[in-house]
Amino acid sequence: MLKAVLFDMDGVLFNSMPDHAECWMKAAAQFGLTISKEDVYMNEGRTGEDTITMFTRLQKGRDPQPGECEQIYAAKCKLFEAKGEPAVMAGAPDVVHLAKAAGLITGIVTGSGQKALLGRLEKNFPQCFLENHIVSSSSCQRGKPYPDPYLLGLERVGVSAEEAVVIENAPLGVQAACAAGIRTIAVNTGRLDEKVLYDAGAAIVFPSMTELAKHWTLNVKQ
Ligand code: CA
Repeated sequence: MLKAVLFDMDGVLFNSMPDHAECWMKAAAQFGLTISKEDVYMNEGRTGEDTITMFTRLQKGRDPQPGECEQIYAAKCKLFEAKGEPAVMAGAPDVVHLAKAAGLITGIVTGSGQKALLGRLEKNFPQCFLENHIVSSSSCQRGKPYPDPYLLGLERVGVSAEEAVVIENAPLGVQAACAAGIRTIAVNTGRLDEKVLYDAGAAIVFPSMTELAKHWTLNVKQ
């Protein structure tokens, strides 16, 4: 029996990925790294530290120096905050309210550590997510695509993997949720081919949160 829905945040609840992509590109360039928009979408869900470590190894052939990840991630966050508030994803409030109306527990599992965005949850989705039902980048040592954040999410909302469903938009997020044994619905709100999301393990892929809301009863509340 379905008891809980775990939502990813960026690209699911907020239309924040275009801003994230632009800010990653700019911040990386300031520190001699090249990160493309496509790279950002393919690696979405990784923590800032993991992302910077990966690209530093690939492009500079070494590990980041002490403080280097923090410095680059701080530059990215500063650019992101200067962009102002990202819009709520169209259809996201409908999906969250359908879940609440069905008596399901709602939680969030995000690789983001953006304080501003986390604070914005309460404003845009009032009384939808309890603070102790939110897993962010600071909650886990190993981020997506490891299952750890979703396993912690299950623990926080107090249900088993079989009693939950995940809503994700990113291949690594889908991988993480599937590795945690949770049925995963993907929404392809970015710029990737939907095949990438099916290949990552998604049970079904919708083109938007609006479409998911329309087909909610058939596909989520079993
Ligand atoms: Ca996401």
